[in-house]
Amino acid sequence: MSILKNSLFIAGILGTISCNTTPQTQTSVNENSTNEKTFHTVNATIQTTPVSSDDDAADDPSIWIHPENRENSILITTNKKNGVDLYDLNGNLLNSQPFGKLNNIDVRYNFVLGDDTIDIAAASNRTTNSISIFKIDADSRKLKDISARVFPTDLEEVYGFCLYKDVSTYRFYANVVSKEGKFEQFELLSTDSGKIDLKSVRRFDLSSQAEGMVADDELGNLFIAEENVGLWKYNAHPDSGVSRTLIDTLHGKNKNNSLAEDLEGVSIYYAADKKGYLIVSSQGNNSYAVYDRNGDNKYIGSFEIANGNIDGTEDTDGLDVINMGFGSLFPNGFFIAQDGANTEQNDTLNQNFKLVPWESIASELNLIQDKDHNVRL
Ligand code: CA
Ligand code: CA
Ligand code: CA
Ligand code: CA
Ligand code: CA
Repeated sequence: MSILKNSLFIAGILGTISCNTTPQTQTSVNENSTNEKTFHTVNATIQTTPVSSDDDAADDPSIWIHPENRENSILITTNKKNGVDLYDLNGNLLNSQPFGKLNNIDVRYNFVLGDDTIDIAAASNRTTNSISIFKIDADSRKLKDISARVFPTDLEEVYGFCLYKDVSTYRFYANVVSKEGKFEQFELLSTDSGKIDLKSVRRFDLSSQAEGMVADDELGNLFIAEENVGLWKYNAHPDSGVSRTLIDTLHGKNKNNSLAEDLEGVSIYYAADKKGYLIVSSQGNNSYAVYDRNGDNKYIGSFEIANGNIDGTEDTDGLDVINMGFGSLFPNGFFIAQDGANTEQNDTLNQNFKLVPWESIASELNLIQDKDHNVRL
């Protein structure tokens, strides 16, 4: 633990004791550095078993909600050197499946495949420079590759990835962005042989490397974090062209001093009546920025996962969040983030993922909790 991290941790404890729901001032500890800021602090209550590969290996988590027994839901995460690791909600490893160098992964529900309706996960696959599509099997809690082929893309090196389900048409789209910042969107199509094929439907370019992406299925927005530039909002629909809005930025006169490059993983907390939040990893200062999901996506505040019984997070790549409840473990949903530096006492272990109850974050930043809004659509 660095001295800075230590002092922030102590500051966080003091802040919690003295003013539990009052935002801590977001002034720089050191005026010369945008990396040294104090944020709202929360603690993880669960962490996953460390990933089997060393160095930078764990990358992107995605939460899948079991259709019948909520407590059998799983964390579908990428080991970008090997494939997927699937964990239960206590963080225990259920299965590792070697599908190649899967980078980012996302989940959607109720894809109609022939006579079946299935839940799917899909990922950017850097072994094949393509996209892998999986059926999520609720009984075995494993993935089955149902990609119809190795899909050709126009991208030199697939990197960021997310799914989009247009809830007005029930069409599904795969969105992929490359290391050079080139974006391509595909529609998912079922084949006669019970697999899923892809058809390219849109292309556009950003100016530099981007990875974190998320689509808002209900509002039709697509958010892309251009790592050293800022957070963009596009229309998620393939016919909507290339118009976009810069929601927040790392540089220039509208620079948000709470952000530090790289901007990485992005996810959405859904609530009823189009409410909710957009959460982005600000990797350079180990924090997470929270925005309104709706309207102009106003910046609300930032938090960090500090050291507690479980170590805090550093250099987070991917993240995810869920509003629905999961029994006594997470009655109001949870937030999950990759931890780039997983430690235990003085030992450095392989990377893992940290889970934080949503109510911890909601009470710190005065956010709503909506465990009843069904996102298993
Ligand atoms: Ca990393
Ligand atoms: Ca990245
Ligand atoms: Ca850590
Ligand atoms: Ca990553
Ligand atoms: Ca740990």
